[in-house]
Amino acid sequence: MELSFSINYPLCFRLVLWAAFMENSCCVVGDRIKVLAMADLPYELILFDVDHTLLDFEASEENALEICWEEYFRQAVDFGTYAAAFRKINLGIWHEVEAGKLKPVHVSQERARRVLRHFGLRGGDAAKLGRRFAEGLAAVAKWLPGAETTFRTLAKRYKVGLVTNGLTTVQHPRADALEIKPLLSTFQISEEAGIMKPRIGIFEKALKEAGCSADKTLMVGDSVRSDFQGAINAEIDFCWVRPVHATMPFQFPKPAYGIESVEELNALLP
Ligand SMILES: [Mg+2]
Repeated sequence: MELSFSINYPLCFRLVLWAAFMENSCCVVGDRIKVLAMADLPYELILFDVDHTLLDFEASEENALEICWEEYFRQAVDFGTYAAAFRKINLGIWHEVEAGKLKPVHVSQERARRVLRHFGLRGGDAAKLGRRFAEGLAAVAKWLPGAETTFRTLAKRYKVGLVTNGLTTVQHPRADALEIKPLLSTFQISEEAGIMKPRIGIFEKALKEAGCSADKTLMVGDSVRSDFQGAINAEIDFCWVRPVHATMPFQFPKPAYGIESVEELNALLP
């Protein structure tokens, strides 16, 4: 592909064209300008994060919170106070997991232990509460708006896979309920893989299982710390599904693509 300025475009337009060409976003084909869409880029595999990217985690979490509140906390605290404390503890737990301080396999019980302790319920069965919470999460598998159609449509033209730090006991039942496993070229759950996003190993496993190279792969996810950092580590292009009001931390480069919801991939990947 060559860029030629022999075409008789106005000077200002040539400068815009040159800038766009340097950004690899358009090129000149004959006497026509061709804007490069993602379809012109050589992706073969699209890897998706699951929660907050494809699936509505809040819907699953709400169900799990209600089940556990009814069974363990109703007598001790109102639902709003309990749910707020649970979410705060849960967030801290996952930050520890992402930092490598806690293994995913220990999340359920440790989270339950901390919540019981927070409300002074030291005699509570943390192992059982952890299992009940996971069962509550697993019981609700709800697509984010437009995500199912987009995912199933893309799966007809690209290899698709999932790479998630969610728990095995949660992600398998939800994937089964949504009947998407037959579509997947790879399904990497960090707890099973023994390695978490953002570490490169889980992405290497995904690429190997799907039979694709990093330079022909796009990672789609909402988390900068696990999805984007992981894509950077694995040298995979990244499409950020930007959470509402989120801004990219200054130390990160600009991702290849930024969208508000997975549904926008329909326009980016014809
Ligand atoms: Mg996510």
